[in-house]
Amino acid sequence: MTETLPQTLPQTLPQIGDWADFATLAKLQRERLPAILELAAKSPFYRARAATTGVPVPQTYEDFIAGPLTTKDDLRGAYPYGMLAVPAQRLATYHESSGTAGNPTPSYYTAEDWVDLAERYARKHVPIQASDVFFVRTPYALMITGHLAHAAARMHGAMVVPGDNRSLAMPYSRVVRVLHDVGVTLTWSMATETLLWAAAARANGWEPGRDFPALRALFVGGEPLSPARRKRISEVWGVPVVEEYGSTETGSLAGECPQGNLHLWSDRALFEVYDPETGVTGTEGKGQLVVTPLYREAMPLLRYNIADDVEVSYVDCACGWQLPTVRVLGRSSFAYPVQGARITQARLEELVFALPAEHEVLFWRAKAEPDRLRIEIEVPARHRDDAVAVLTDDVRAEYGITAEVTGVAPGSLVPLDVLTAVQDVVKPRALFGPGEDWDKALLYA
Ligand code: AMP
Ligand code: MG
Ligand code: ZN
Repeated sequence: MTETLPQTLPQTLPQIGDWADFATLAKLQRERLPAILELAAKSPFYRARAATTGVPVPQTYEDFIAGPLTTKDDLRGAYPYGMLAVPAQRLATYHESSGTAGNPTPSYYTAEDWVDLAERYARKHVPIQASDVFFVRTPYALMITGHLAHAAARMHGAMVVPGDNRSLAMPYSRVVRVLHDVGVTLTWSMATETLLWAAAARANGWEPGRDFPALRALFVGGEPLSPARRKRISEVWGVPVVEEYGSTETGSLAGECPQGNLHLWSDRALFEVYDPETGVTGTEGKGQLVVTPLYREAMPLLRYNIADDVEVSYVDCACGWQLPTVRVLGRSSFAYPVQGARITQARLEELVFALPAEHEVLFWRAKAEPDRLRIEIEVPARHRDDAVAVLTDDVRAEYGITAEVTGVAPGSLVPLDVLTAVQDVVKPRALFGPGEDWDKALLYA
């Protein structure tokens, strides 16, 4: 018997503006939840959990909210298809998240799931348009991020330039050439990438803020970004930086509004905040983010603990979106003790990027030990003494300790040849002539 595959969306997806206030938004979520609970009852993982605990898959909001969380380990344990709630032939893509430790964390989506995914990603306050040239500079292999931006840009008629940051075919020299020559208008990458492009542009004789006139905005995500670093990136490139937050297991979870606040896409997912110390979940405050996607059929997730440290607030924002705001602290909020002070990457990053722009500091690293804090910044010789003095003062003012700040020459932390090398990716070859190195046989690089 052949199964008829649905050709249309199983439901209409909510859009910003469909609800007037937080109370109506909560009502929308409650109305949608039963459909997701019904799907979860088809998932082998949730059925098995019900069988072993004797507690059925939740059927009401009250059961749901009292039920267990789903963890990353649950996803790994269900590898590869233990979460599948639809016939396998309806799947459109299979992904795994970036994590290197332990077993893979799988996720899969149908074509219908992809409409929700692409729409959520495309909610940018600098809108993606048909005239855009959209450069995707995140991985395409296994992870969702590259495909997500790709799909969203295509959905809006933009031309996509796929530029995977993990591919040997796309060294930085090629990135800046494409940005420049192809007239890229929008980009998608981690924030750090945009600084590497800036350095690569300069290494190729171009000035980022001047020689890329087509560029309209930089879309960034995937790593914590302090306000000072974001401001610096925006100054260097002369365009707005638009941030988003998401993961391979969920797609986009939050995006930035015109006021510069990150808002959770609460019309498409139900969010909770979990306090691992007390075991209590609530709707707001500080804790780990717990996500229940509301428009996802291939792999329903109930109360999935994404385990990112966040702070969620329900406050009115001038954007009028009526969506909760989120601060993503992530690993950057992890503190190392130094002489009684608690040093975090988030705060150090603020101090480094608060240095005057003319010092040209883009790259840094630090090592925190119980009795000393070492910081290295890449800075041209002419600004070295000033930059070191300012940063030493700022660290002292912040933490009350004297850090060992060293100004190192540009190229020390990010080698120049990484920015300028032209890496030729060849096709496999078996026959070599005299004077050629046949140790390269069959290798691609
Ligand atoms: P992945 O699982 O490889 O898709 O990466 C997703 C993870 O990247 C999230 O769980 C966060 O820890 C991190 N992440 C993504 N976007 C942001 C952001 N805007 N700010 C901070 N961390 C982020
Ligand atoms: Mg177009
Ligand atoms: Zn807002």
